[in-house]
Amino acid sequence: MMGLFDTIRDNVSARQVAEYYGLKINRNDMACCPFHNDRHPSMKLDKRFHCFGCQADGDAVDYVGRLYGLGAKEAAYKIADDFNIPIEPWKRESREERNTRIRNAKEKEIEMNIRRAYAEELRQFRLKMSEFFRVLHDWEQKYAPTQEQWNAEMIDERFVTAIHCKDRVEYILDVLDFGEDEEIYDIYKHREEIIEYYEREITKAQQRAA
Ligand SMILES: [Zn+2]
Repeated sequence: MMGLFDTIRDNVSARQVAEYYGLKINRNDMACCPFHNDRHPSMKLDKRFHCFGCQADGDAVDYVGRLYGLGAKEAAYKIADDFNIPIEPWKRESREERNTRIRNAKEKEIEMNIRRAYAEELRQFRLKMSEFFRVLHDWEQKYAPTQEQWNAEMIDERFVTAIHCKDRVEYILDVLDFGEDEEIYDIYKHREEIIEYYEREITKAQQRAA
């Protein structure tokens, strides 16, 4: 007689369930890990999954359990439900178990949507900062004063602004890419002021240079 977990494992791989519940897997069987703040694919998926970033590891049941905050049994039921895997009647969950499972999964789903929205806003913020960086970097090269301009103190505003702002913008990008979650969140909280500030500095330099 086959147990519940074996039945599930025999029918679906970690990769299949991950894809079914929304994970995008690339051609190398790698994906951005949903269990840590992963910006480059660190998770390998096959019969099992393994994240080289946070060491999350397991099979289809473990994946779903973790994703939806379910116990192993509930996760197995969920997979059986969603994938139409027949389970021997005495191994099925009770109505009460089922209701609890669905409620838990729903709460988790909401939490995940919030997390996804945060990741997207973070991505937009990063994009904006890298645009600023590109402009400033360009200006630093393009409007660098010649010796005569330097001596005459005829220095292009754009160069001044580049020198003034570039390191800080680069620092923010660094934190966004490599910082701890809390550092990232600290900067993220101020993203509107930050964007506004650099937009203003850049516009001001353009106007003065014109
Ligand atoms: Zn991970």
